[in-house]
Amino acid sequence: MGTMDIVTDNLATVRNKISAAAERAGRKPEAVRLVLVTKTVAPERIALALQSGQRDLGENKVQEGLKKSEALADKNIRWSMIGHLQTNKVKDVLRFAAEVQSLDRLSLAVALEKRLQQFGRSLDVLVQVNTSAEASKYGLAPEEVLPFLRELPAFSTLKPKGFMTLATFTHDENEVRRCFQLLREIRERARDTTPQGAALAELSMGMSGDYAWAIEEGATIVRVGQAVFGPRALPDSYYWPQSENAGNTD
Ligand SMILES: *Cc1c(COP(=O)(O)O)cnc(C)c1O
Repeated sequence: MGTMDIVTDNLATVRNKISAAAERAGRKPEAVRLVLVTKTVAPERIALALQSGQRDLGENKVQEGLKKSEALADKNIRWSMIGHLQTNKVKDVLRFAAEVQSLDRLSLAVALEKRLQQFGRSLDVLVQVNTSAEASKYGLAPEEVLPFLRELPAFSTLKPKGFMTLATFTHDENEVRRCFQLLREIRERARDTTPQGAALAELSMGMSGDYAWAIEEGATIVRVGQAVFGPRALPDSYYWPQSENAGNTD
Protein backbone atom coordinates (compact mmCIF):
# COMPACT_ATOMS: atom_id res chain seq x y z
CA MET A 1 0.00 0.00 0.00
CA GLY A 2 1.30 3.41 -0.93
CA THR A 3 4.40 2.10 -2.69
CA MET A 4 3.67 3.20 -6.19
CA ASP A 5 6.03 1.68 -8.71
CA ILE A 6 8.09 4.19 -10.66
CA VAL A 7 6.68 2.94 -13.97
CA THR A 8 3.12 3.39 -12.75
CA ASP A 9 4.00 6.80 -11.38
CA ASN A 10 5.72 7.98 -14.58
CA LEU A 11 2.86 6.68 -16.70
CA ALA A 12 0.36 8.70 -14.67
CA THR A 13 2.54 11.79 -15.08
CA VAL A 14 2.79 11.33 -18.85
CA ARG A 15 -0.97 10.81 -19.12
CA ASN A 16 -1.57 14.01 -17.14
CA LYS A 17 0.80 15.94 -19.39
CA ILE A 18 -0.95 14.55 -22.47
CA SER A 19 -4.30 15.71 -21.11
CA ALA A 20 -2.95 19.15 -20.24
CA ALA A 21 -1.40 19.60 -23.69
CA ALA A 22 -4.61 18.47 -25.37
CA GLU A 23 -6.60 20.95 -23.33
CA ARG A 24 -4.19 23.77 -24.20
CA ALA A 25 -4.80 22.90 -27.84
CA GLY A 26 -8.57 22.94 -27.34
CA ARG A 27 -8.90 19.18 -27.80
CA LYS A 28 -10.18 16.32 -25.69
CA PRO A 29 -7.60 14.16 -23.86
CA GLU A 30 -9.14 11.09 -25.55
CA ALA A 31 -8.20 12.59 -28.92
CA VAL A 32 -4.58 11.60 -28.24
CA ARG A 33 -3.52 7.96 -28.13
CA LEU A 34 -0.43 7.03 -26.13
CA VAL A 35 1.65 4.30 -27.74
CA LEU A 36 4.01 3.21 -24.99
CA VAL A 37 7.37 2.34 -26.56
CA THR A 38 8.82 -0.76 -24.89
CA LYS A 39 12.11 -1.30 -26.72
CA THR A 40 14.84 -2.66 -24.37
CA VAL A 41 12.24 -2.98 -21.57
CA ALA A 42 11.74 -6.41 -19.97
CA PRO A 43 8.25 -7.96 -20.02
CA GLU A 44 7.98 -7.79 -16.21
CA ARG A 45 8.28 -3.99 -16.29
CA ILE A 46 5.94 -3.73 -19.27
CA ALA A 47 3.39 -5.70 -17.23
CA LEU A 48 3.35 -2.89 -14.64
CA ALA A 49 2.18 -0.46 -17.31
CA LEU A 50 -0.46 -2.92 -18.47
CA GLN A 51 -1.74 -3.16 -14.90
CA SER A 52 -2.47 0.55 -14.94
CA GLY A 53 -4.59 0.25 -18.03
CA GLN A 54 -2.11 0.74 -20.89
CA ARG A 55 -3.05 -1.28 -24.01
CA ASP A 56 -1.14 0.33 -26.90
CA LEU A 57 2.52 -0.70 -27.08
CA GLY A 58 5.13 0.07 -29.73
CA GLU A 59 8.30 -1.72 -30.80
CA ASN A 60 11.02 -0.57 -33.18
CA LYS A 61 12.47 -3.97 -34.12
CA VAL A 62 10.57 -7.01 -35.33
CA GLN A 63 12.40 -9.75 -33.46
CA GLU A 64 12.26 -7.82 -30.19
CA GLY A 65 8.55 -7.17 -30.63
CA LEU A 66 7.81 -10.76 -31.53
CA LYS A 67 9.63 -12.06 -28.44
CA LYS A 68 7.82 -9.69 -26.10
CA SER A 69 4.46 -10.36 -27.65
CA GLU A 70 5.03 -14.06 -26.96
CA ALA A 71 6.12 -13.38 -23.38
CA LEU A 72 2.99 -11.26 -22.85
CA ALA A 73 0.64 -13.39 -24.94
CA ASP A 74 -1.94 -13.69 -22.15
CA LYS A 75 -2.35 -9.88 -21.95
CA ASN A 76 -4.71 -7.65 -23.87
CA ILE A 77 -2.25 -5.61 -25.97
CA ARG A 78 -2.41 -3.74 -29.26
CA TRP A 79 1.08 -3.72 -30.78
CA SER A 80 2.32 -1.07 -33.20
CA MET A 81 5.43 -1.48 -35.33
CA ILE A 82 7.15 1.91 -35.30
CA GLY A 83 10.63 1.14 -36.68
CA HIS A 84 12.09 0.59 -40.12
CA LEU A 85 10.66 -2.60 -41.57
CA GLN A 86 12.59 -4.84 -43.94
CA THR A 87 10.49 -6.75 -46.43
CA ASN A 88 11.96 -10.07 -45.26
CA LYS A 89 10.52 -9.37 -41.77
CA VAL A 90 6.96 -8.82 -42.95
CA LYS A 91 5.81 -12.32 -42.11
CA ASP A 92 7.09 -11.99 -38.53
CA VAL A 93 5.70 -8.51 -37.95
CA LEU A 94 2.23 -9.74 -38.90
CA ARG A 95 2.46 -12.32 -36.13
CA PHE A 96 2.08 -9.59 -33.51
CA ALA A 97 1.43 -6.12 -34.93
CA ALA A 98 -2.05 -4.67 -35.39
CA GLU A 99 -0.60 -1.56 -37.00
CA VAL A 100 2.53 -0.58 -38.94
CA GLN A 101 3.44 3.09 -38.56
CA SER A 102 6.53 2.93 -40.77
CA LEU A 103 5.16 2.35 -44.27
CA ASP A 104 7.72 4.20 -46.37
CA ARG A 105 7.97 2.56 -49.81
CA LEU A 106 5.99 0.64 -52.40
CA SER A 107 8.10 -2.50 -52.12
CA LEU A 108 7.02 -2.76 -48.48
CA ALA A 109 3.36 -2.29 -49.47
CA VAL A 110 3.77 -5.10 -52.00
CA ALA A 111 5.28 -7.45 -49.41
CA LEU A 112 2.63 -6.63 -46.79
CA GLU A 113 -0.22 -7.08 -49.28
CA LYS A 114 1.05 -10.49 -50.35
CA ARG A 115 1.20 -11.85 -46.79
CA LEU A 116 -2.04 -10.19 -45.68
CA GLN A 117 -3.84 -11.75 -48.63
CA GLN A 118 -2.48 -15.14 -47.55
CA PHE A 119 -3.58 -14.58 -43.97
CA GLY A 120 -6.95 -13.18 -45.03
CA ARG A 121 -6.70 -10.03 -42.97
CA SER A 122 -6.11 -6.30 -43.25
CA LEU A 123 -3.66 -3.96 -41.51
CA ASP A 124 -3.81 -0.36 -40.30
CA VAL A 125 -0.87 1.58 -41.70
CA LEU A 126 0.61 5.04 -41.28
CA VAL A 127 2.80 6.56 -43.95
CA GLN A 128 6.16 7.60 -42.51
CA VAL A 129 7.38 11.00 -43.66
CA ASN A 130 10.89 12.40 -43.29
CA THR A 131 10.02 15.91 -42.13
CA SER A 132 13.50 16.70 -40.78
CA ALA A 133 15.29 16.16 -44.12
CA GLU A 134 18.06 14.41 -42.17
CA ALA A 135 19.62 11.75 -44.37
CA SER A 136 19.75 9.36 -41.40
CA LYS A 137 15.97 9.21 -41.03
CA TYR A 138 13.66 6.87 -42.82
CA GLY A 139 10.45 7.98 -44.45
CA LEU A 140 9.20 9.47 -47.68
CA ALA A 141 10.27 12.97 -48.63
CA PRO A 142 7.31 15.36 -48.23
CA GLU A 143 6.87 15.75 -52.00
CA GLU A 144 6.70 11.97 -52.46
CA VAL A 145 3.74 11.50 -50.12
CA LEU A 146 0.78 12.39 -52.35
CA PRO A 147 1.97 10.31 -55.32
CA PHE A 148 2.56 7.41 -52.90
CA LEU A 149 -0.97 7.70 -51.50
CA ARG A 150 -2.41 7.55 -55.00
CA GLU A 151 -0.79 4.11 -55.43
CA LEU A 152 -2.12 2.67 -52.18
CA PRO A 153 -5.73 1.83 -53.20
CA ALA A 154 -4.23 -1.00 -55.28
CA PHE A 155 -3.36 -2.70 -51.97
CA SER A 156 -6.75 -3.76 -50.69
CA THR A 157 -5.49 -5.17 -47.37
CA LEU A 158 -3.75 -1.95 -46.32
CA LYS A 159 -5.89 0.54 -44.41
CA PRO A 160 -4.08 3.92 -44.45
CA LYS A 161 -4.99 5.89 -41.32
CA GLY A 162 -2.58 8.81 -41.48
CA PHE A 163 1.05 9.75 -41.03
CA MET A 164 4.06 9.28 -38.77
CA THR A 165 7.25 11.27 -38.35
CA LEU A 166 10.32 11.76 -36.18
CA ALA A 167 11.26 15.40 -35.67
CA THR A 168 14.82 16.68 -36.02
CA PHE A 169 17.00 15.69 -33.03
CA THR A 170 17.52 19.10 -31.51
CA HIS A 171 16.45 21.12 -28.49
CA ASP A 172 15.46 23.94 -30.87
CA GLU A 173 11.72 24.15 -30.24
CA ASN A 174 11.04 26.05 -33.46
CA GLU A 175 12.74 23.41 -35.58
CA VAL A 176 10.93 20.54 -33.83
CA ARG A 177 7.58 22.29 -34.21
CA ARG A 178 8.34 22.97 -37.89
CA CYS A 179 8.55 19.19 -38.45
CA PHE A 180 5.22 18.62 -36.71
CA GLN A 181 3.56 21.46 -38.62
CA LEU A 182 4.84 20.04 -41.88
CA LEU A 183 3.30 16.65 -41.14
CA ARG A 184 0.00 18.31 -40.33
CA GLU A 185 0.09 20.30 -43.59
CA ILE A 186 0.77 17.09 -45.50
CA ARG A 187 -2.29 15.53 -43.88
CA GLU A 188 -4.47 18.50 -44.87
CA ARG A 189 -3.27 18.32 -48.47
CA ALA A 190 -3.75 14.55 -48.56
CA ARG A 191 -7.27 14.83 -47.19
CA ASP A 192 -8.22 17.22 -49.98
CA THR A 193 -6.53 15.51 -52.90
CA THR A 194 -6.15 11.75 -52.42
CA PRO A 195 -8.53 8.79 -52.72
CA GLN A 196 -8.31 7.97 -48.99
CA GLY A 197 -9.46 11.48 -48.07
CA ALA A 198 -10.93 11.78 -44.61
CA ALA A 199 -9.66 8.37 -43.47
CA LEU A 200 -6.22 9.93 -43.11
CA ALA A 201 -6.86 11.37 -39.66
CA GLU A 202 -3.89 10.21 -37.61
CA LEU A 203 -0.73 12.19 -36.91
CA SER A 204 1.79 10.06 -35.01
CA MET A 205 4.40 12.51 -33.79
CA GLY A 206 6.10 13.31 -30.51
CA MET A 207 8.37 11.24 -28.25
CA SER A 208 9.57 11.61 -24.63
CA GLY A 209 11.28 14.96 -25.23
CA ASP A 210 8.69 16.65 -27.40
CA TYR A 211 5.27 15.03 -27.08
CA ALA A 212 3.63 18.09 -25.49
CA TRP A 213 4.71 20.25 -28.44
CA ALA A 214 3.49 17.57 -30.83
CA ILE A 215 0.05 17.53 -29.24
CA GLU A 216 -0.15 21.31 -29.42
CA GLU A 217 0.63 20.95 -33.14
CA GLY A 218 -2.11 18.36 -33.64
CA ALA A 219 -0.70 14.92 -32.79
CA THR A 220 -3.35 12.22 -32.41
CA ILE A 221 -0.77 9.58 -31.44
CA VAL A 222 2.37 10.08 -29.34
CA ARG A 223 5.10 7.43 -29.03
CA VAL A 224 6.71 7.63 -25.60
CA GLY A 225 9.24 5.29 -23.99
CA GLN A 226 11.93 6.83 -21.80
CA ALA A 227 9.63 9.25 -19.99
CA VAL A 228 7.92 6.18 -18.54
CA PHE A 229 10.66 3.54 -18.33
CA GLY A 230 13.73 5.75 -17.77
CA PRO A 231 16.80 6.20 -19.98
CA ARG A 232 17.78 3.36 -22.31
CA ALA A 233 21.20 1.74 -22.11
CA LEU A 234 21.36 1.22 -25.87
CA PRO A 235 22.12 4.33 -27.93
CA ASP A 236 19.50 5.55 -30.39
CA SER A 237 21.93 4.73 -33.22
CA TYR A 238 21.08 1.09 -32.60
CA TYR A 239 17.50 1.83 -33.61
CA TRP A 240 18.15 4.61 -36.10
CA PRO A 241 21.21 3.63 -38.13
CA GLN A 242 23.65 6.48 -38.91
CA SER A 243 22.10 8.82 -36.38
CA GLU A 244 25.14 8.76 -34.04
CA ASN A 245 25.80 12.47 -34.32
CA ALA A 246 22.24 13.61 -34.55
CA GLY A 247 21.92 14.50 -30.87
CA ASN A 248 24.85 16.92 -30.97
CA THR A 249 23.70 19.17 -33.75
CA ASP A 250 22.02 21.90 -31.72
C1 LIG B 1 12.23 4.74 -29.41
C2 LIG B 1 11.25 5.40 -30.28
C3 LIG B 1 10.32 6.31 -29.78
C4 LIG B 1 10.26 6.70 -28.33
O1 LIG B 1 11.42 7.36 -27.92
P1 LIG B 1 11.58 7.77 -26.38
O2 LIG B 1 12.75 8.66 -26.35
O3 LIG B 1 11.82 6.49 -25.64
O4 LIG B 1 10.30 8.39 -25.95
C5 LIG B 1 9.42 6.88 -30.67
N1 LIG B 1 9.41 6.55 -31.97
C6 LIG B 1 10.27 5.67 -32.49
C7 LIG B 1 10.21 5.37 -33.95
C8 LIG B 1 11.21 5.05 -31.67
O5 LIG B 1 12.07 4.17 -32.19
